[in-house]
Amino acid sequence: MMNKICPKCGRRYTEIENYCTKCGIELEKDKNRCSGNKTAMCSHRVFEDDDMYCSYCGSLTTYAKAKLE
Ligand SMILES: [Zn+2]
Ligand SMILES: [Zn+2]
Repeated sequence: MMNKICPKCGRRYTEIENYCTKCGIELEKDKNRCSGNKTAMCSHRVFEDDDMYCSYCGSLTTYAKAKLE
């Protein structure tokens, strides 16, 4: 599970939270990436929000993984 950090006050939030409870600003969303990183190509690729699997190694994307956990 990845965490988001408020860029203004530094509070930590879980993946599913979109706004800082203290500042009210929108938290930066991590891009949908390969969770396996088994090939050199994986870390350079950003997938669409609804992509479930990495096209290079077949691992789940980070968004798909977060939804399953
Ligand atoms: Zn904040
Ligand atoms: Zn991959």
